[in-house]
Amino acid sequence: MANMTNIEKTSLIPNWQQELKSAFTNINELLSFLNLNVEDLSLYSNAAKKFPLLVTRSYAERIVKSDWNDPLLRQVLPHPDELAAHPNYLSDPVGDSSASISPGLIHKYYGRILIISTGACAIHCRYCFRREFPYSDNSAHRSQLDSISQYLSNHTEVTEVILSGGDPLTLSDSKLQHLLEQLVKQPQVERIRIHTRIPIVLPSRITQALIKTLSSTPKKVIIVIHSNHPNELNHEVSAALLSLKSIGVILLNQTVLLRGVNDNADTLVKLSHRLFDCSTIPYYLHLLDKVTGATHFDSTQAHSDNIYQQIQERLPGYLVPKLVREEAGKKHKTIMAKRL
Ligand code: SF4
Repeated sequence: MANMTNIEKTSLIPNWQQELKSAFTNINELLSFLNLNVEDLSLYSNAAKKFPLLVTRSYAERIVKSDWNDPLLRQVLPHPDELAAHPNYLSDPVGDSSASISPGLIHKYYGRILIISTGACAIHCRYCFRREFPYSDNSAHRSQLDSISQYLSNHTEVTEVILSGGDPLTLSDSKLQHLLEQLVKQPQVERIRIHTRIPIVLPSRITQALIKTLSSTPKKVIIVIHSNHPNELNHEVSAALLSLKSIGVILLNQTVLLRGVNDNADTLVKLSHRLFDCSTIPYYLHLLDKVTGATHFDSTQAHSDNIYQQIQERLPGYLVPKLVREEAGKKHKTIMAKRL
């Protein structure tokens, strides 16, 4: 490596990592790319101070140009409304800190533990319930993996490990492989579940090398993606998901109900159909976690009940996600509406 030129070093970086490095982090650049003008940029910049803008080029290309109301743009553009404080909106709305066992390890539900494998994401979703999560003190670095293994040994009822974050697929192949190898050593672990938005926002990450890494684990692998709108599911995303499906990965999707993005039955029905085209089953429709800065995304209970009634009437049962809310301290997600 010592004698390599910078060009040679760059060519060793996988394409997806280069693409991640070229993601939009500057609001002005994103708005220019989208042919949008704003008179007072400082209102948007102030909203980005605590939780910066981050949008991959791939995702930005799916945003309709010159449209402030584009449902993909609304998910990622810092907005002045984020600065509105509200006593019911909290920095840790789902009780992660009280369920934290050790750095990077959260245990909420029977039989499952969750590992915060990284604080990094490929995109910053403005409504994210972990937008204020203290990742620097609470991520499972290599040095913490031994204590997580010890915890598993003492809790033999745990049969499923969830890799979360941040986004676990932002880890390099070697880091991900190391993590999976540690879990494979635990005989009680039957399933490894990966929560990721990467197939949606950076489909180039689903490389042959990643497919090989995932297919080499003897554990059952479940990937729960996160898509909120059918416009997110373009041809590249579909190809990435189908290649995951081809190695036997179970694909599920979770959606967050977001005002001004997908809070109508037409969009959610279309999303379920499109997910099924991509071999992915709609799993959860989450009511918004009441996180600080996300008040403008919230809907009323009556509105969400009304939408859910309509989607039940229009979709076959296997394409109807469960409408749920996560409540801090509870032993399971709360089902908000019964299926017909
Ligand atoms: S990708 Fe997931 S963890 Fe990252 S900001 Fe979006 S919702 Fe949050």
